[in-house]
Amino acid sequence: MPQSRTTHAPLIIVGSGPAGYTTAIYAARAMLQPILISGFEPGGQLMITTDVENYPGFAEPIQGPWLMEQMRLQAEHVGANLVSDYVVKAELAQRPFRLTCDSGAVYTCDALVIATGAKAKWLGIPSEEKFKGYGVSACATCDGFFYRGKEVVVVGGGNSAVEEALYLANLASRVTVVHRRETFRSEKILQERLFAHPKIEVVWNTAIDEILGQEGPLSVNSVRLRNVKTGATEERRIDGVFVAIGHAPASELFAGQIELKPNGYIKTVPGTTQTSVAGVFAAGDVADDIYRQAVTAAGLGCMAALEAEKYLAAQEKHAVAAE
Ligand code: NAP
Repeated sequence: MPQSRTTHAPLIIVGSGPAGYTTAIYAARAMLQPILISGFEPGGQLMITTDVENYPGFAEPIQGPWLMEQMRLQAEHVGANLVSDYVVKAELAQRPFRLTCDSGAVYTCDALVIATGAKAKWLGIPSEEKFKGYGVSACATCDGFFYRGKEVVVVGGGNSAVEEALYLANLASRVTVVHRRETFRSEKILQERLFAHPKIEVVWNTAIDEILGQEGPLSVNSVRLRNVKTGATEERRIDGVFVAIGHAPASELFAGQIELKPNGYIKTVPGTTQTSVAGVFAAGDVADDIYRQAVTAAGLGCMAALEAEKYLAAQEKHAVAAE
């Protein structure tokens, strides 16, 4: 049975990636007694990342899940209240703001930081939907293990695609990267590693038209590729498809209540984390369609905490003056 109870906190943070945890750390140290609602996948995208080589402070590669565990422990250590639940409804037109969770718990707050991050995008073809979980994945670190000694395709040309391909090359017998243009947008250092890898082949100017496979048990056995310049098609025998074509912001909960950009990212006042609703701040990948790095998300989380603190102090001052 869903429970129904209401808890109030001056500041609530929704999301538990680098942005959410950093907000919690700063807000707890500012004695705001923040509650952080962590969502169904605590830790965010770094939980499905292996080596992190560009988070400052670590000369050797660190593991994404380890980094998130450290942030979680630090947030707890400084006094943030971490709640394992999932927000299903947000009401931002009223004061205090009201959040309803999957468990039935209700939270209200005077200031809110949205740090819900972003989720993997899919190609959107029917065969991808059919074989999701049966040969089609968007997470090499989660599912790569099933493709030991097998042949896989990775779709995309950004950091995610190149990293997934390099990771899979440790397990699979052959990795084919299919990219719709003839240059990658990923970091050069990653591209160099990819081009030098004997198990990885890149197929440029190519899209996946269809993923083919068999029923009972459902499994993938090939892909139909189409050269986007010539229109020529070919079928390739493969065992798995990894889609790594970017991410979409997790902003649906707030659509219609705060201003979003046309691409779905939350709009903030330039140079701040302030959204179109006073007292609601957005930090990390849900509001950042440019940098999308762990370290920028953490930085934005810090900004959100400082801005929320200032906002709450101003509210308190007004309340005292009105008494
Ligand atoms: P991304 O940089 O947006 O790259 C997405 C790639 O997928 C692009 O190459 C794009 O092609 C391709 N693509 C998009 N839609 C497609 C479609 N419908 N069909 C086929 N291809 C499609 O996304 P990302 O690689 O997930 O990276 C997101 C952000 O996270 C970036 O800022 C990245 O630097 C960051 N990131 C960083 C690290 C790291 O620092 N180690 C690791 C992972 C991600 P076009 O190139 O033609 O647009």
